[in-house]
Formats: sequence, structure tokens, C-alpha cells
Amino acid sequence: ELDTISEKAASKGGGSDDGGSRILVFVRLRPISRKEREAGARCCVKIVDGRDVYLTEFATENDYLRLKRLRGRHFTFDASFPDTATQHDVYSTTTAELVEAVLQGRNGSVFCYGATGAGKTYTMLGTIENPGVMVLAIKDLFSKIRQRSYDGNHVVHLSYLEVYNETVRDLLSPGRPLVLREDKQGIVAAGLTQYRAYSTDEVMALLQQGNLNRTTEPTRCNETSSRSHAILQVVIEYHVKDSSNNIVNRIGKLSLIDLAGSERALATDQRTLRSLEGANINKSLLALSSCINALVEGKKHIPYRNSKLTQLLKDSLGGACNTVMIANISPSNLSFGETQNTLHWADRAKEIRTKAYDAHEEMQMPDSETDQAKLLLELQKENR
Ligand code: ADP
Ligand code: MG
Repeated sequence: ELDTISEKAASKGGGSDDGGSRILVFVRLRPISRKEREAGARCCVKIVDGRDVYLTEFATENDYLRLKRLRGRHFTFDASFPDTATQHDVYSTTTAELVEAVLQGRNGSVFCYGATGAGKTYTMLGTIENPGVMVLAIKDLFSKIRQRSYDGNHVVHLSYLEVYNETVRDLLSPGRPLVLREDKQGIVAAGLTQYRAYSTDEVMALLQQGNLNRTTEPTRCNETSSRSHAILQVVIEYHVKDSSNNIVNRIGKLSLIDLAGSERALATDQRTLRSLEGANINKSLLALSSCINALVEGKKHIPYRNSKLTQLLKDSLGGACNTVMIANISPSNLSFGETQNTLHWADRAKEIRTKAYDAHEEMQMPDSETDQAKLLLELQKENR
């Protein structure tokens, strides 16, 4: 039974004829906020046909029409969500298929990417009234398990962790930083809480509490630092009988990631890049960009080792897994530059084709400052 479903899911989900599966990239526009309106902001983004994103500093209906005719500054994604989209719309289009695949023992990851205030945490965590992708995914997972698991053998574990300034912390059990270790299973955070979940009810409270444990900026208490990455990992373990009646264990892992604000890590020009070499560099976000670039270019060596975030996501990015990027943007013309950067980045991420590969084939490189310097040079060259 499970195997039949698995085959169906494999042929339907992300898989394509060249043996790889493309990364899916989505854009979500959030509603204009009261603060933005009070500051005299105008809307500079328009979503057309649920796919196309038009960006203009002059936001009249005529401008959009003209831009469309001129095929001007416009981007197309797998789907683009207007500010009226519900949390459910976003979940079912972006993540529902990944949950299905994870139940068949595959890995998958969903990233929210964008500037601070663009709606990443709202999309991932949401509120009690409007729970986001993290909560809806777990809810869906349990309902699917209930529908299908006749022998009740699925076990679900949750881990929630933070990467802040290259330090990994357990958000479910705050304390000392965690050490990353490589073992046969891949990279593991030693001592990380694996919370056994039995139902959805407890999850929202657990995640909200975890979110409160995220690092806050020293100068602004209560406000989550724009440099904190939060990763929810949902691990599903189960066993099936194969054709010769042997019991086989399977594990599927879903990683849901609320990334740090991209405003300080995105280099699309020389000057920005130079400022990144200063103290404010977000190593993990830069390394993620670099891995994405390497994947886009089909490079054999993907520099996962350059940061804690990319180490943690090594088995969930590229390779034989499904990856979803949700680029969050504000409609305000006051955020025009950030929105443009985010859209350019998302446009590039679209080019990734992940290929089924043997992880052991991958060349291992030392994790060093030299690597970091090389990475910056590569980025500099690219932006020249
Ligand atoms: P980020 O995590 O990217 O810094 P947030 O998710 O915290 O941004 O969003 C900033 C503000 O905008 C929050 O008050 C949030 O509730 C609100 N917001 C974001 N996206 C939406 C949306 N789609 N609908 C309604 N409110 C939203
Ligand atoms: Mg946030």
C-alpha cells in the first residue's frame, strides 16, 4: 500500500525526466502595513495571473500595462501570492506535496527568504488565529498518518533550533550552544531535543514558546534579531514490509526554515559587498547563497561546510530532495531596493536543478577562513 503511494508521489512530486527535480520558487507579497501607509508609502508591486511579479517605482495601473507590453522589469515564479492569499493558500501550494513526499521517506526543505519585516515569520509560524506553514504542515502530517497508518507505526519527532552568529542553539531547551558532529547519518547537533509529538494541539504553543527563545537584538528587547535563523526539523520514522516480507525502516525529514533578514547579506553591487566584509557579515546567509550558486552552476563541490546553517541543511538542500523557496516581499516603494534584491535572488534560485547523487562522492574541503575568503572573491567576481 505505502509503496504504491510512494511511486505515485515520486512520479508526481518534483521529479522530472532528467532524473533531477527543480527547486520550486514562490513569492509572497504581504499587505501594506499601517506604519508604511502613515509614512506615505505607495504600493510598487503587482502580482498578475498568480505567477508574474511586476515591480515599478511608479505604481499606476497604466505603468503595469506599459511594463507588461515592454516586457519590462518582471519576474515569473512557480506561483506568486498576492496580499490577499491566506495561510492555507500558501501552505497547500508550496508545502503540501513535500509533506506527502516526506511521508514516503524523502527529505525536503522550505525556506522563507526576504528582508526584515517582509513576512517570513508570519508565513512560517503565523499567529494563533492564522497559523503558518510550520503548524499547517504538522497538522496535515498527522491527519495523513491517521488516514493511512493502519498499524500506527509512524513516529514523529520535532527539533527547533537557531543559528545566530554561527552559534547553534536549541530553541526547545535553551542552554549551552550545541556542537555539530558528523556521523553516518550526516551532520547532527549533539544533544538537540527531539520532541516526540503525538498530536497537533501541543505544537503551536511549543513553537511559539520556541520562537520567544530566539535571540533578540541587544538594543531592542522583545524583538527577534534580524540575524537569527530558525529551523524546525520534523523527522518521521516508520517501517514497511518489502516485497519479500522483510521489515524496512524509513526516515523522512522536513526542514522548515525562517531565515535571517536578507538585507545585510545580499550583494548585488560592489559597494554592498565591500560592506559585507566588515563585522556585520551574516556568514550563514552568504554561505547559503554560495551553495545555491554552486547548485545553479551544477558544480560538483557544494560548499556546505562554510557555515553552520549550510552544514545543518546539507541533506536537505540539493541532492535527492525537494526544495521550496518562498521569497517574502513588502509592497511598499520605501522597500523597493530590498524587494528588487529579493526578487533577483529568487529568480536565480529558480535555475537550480537538484540531481539524485551519492553524498560520498562529494569532495570534502576544510572549513577554514580561506574558504570564506574564496567565497567572497567568487561573489565579488560574480557581481562585477
Ligand atoms: P519578518 O519575519 O520577515 O521580519 P514578519 O513575519 O514578522 O516579518 O512580518 C512583519 C509584520 O507584518 C508582522 O506584524 C506580521 O504580522 C505582518 N505580516 C506579515 N505578513 C503578513 C500577511 N501575509 N498578512 C498579514 N500580516 C502580515
Ligand atoms: Mg521574523
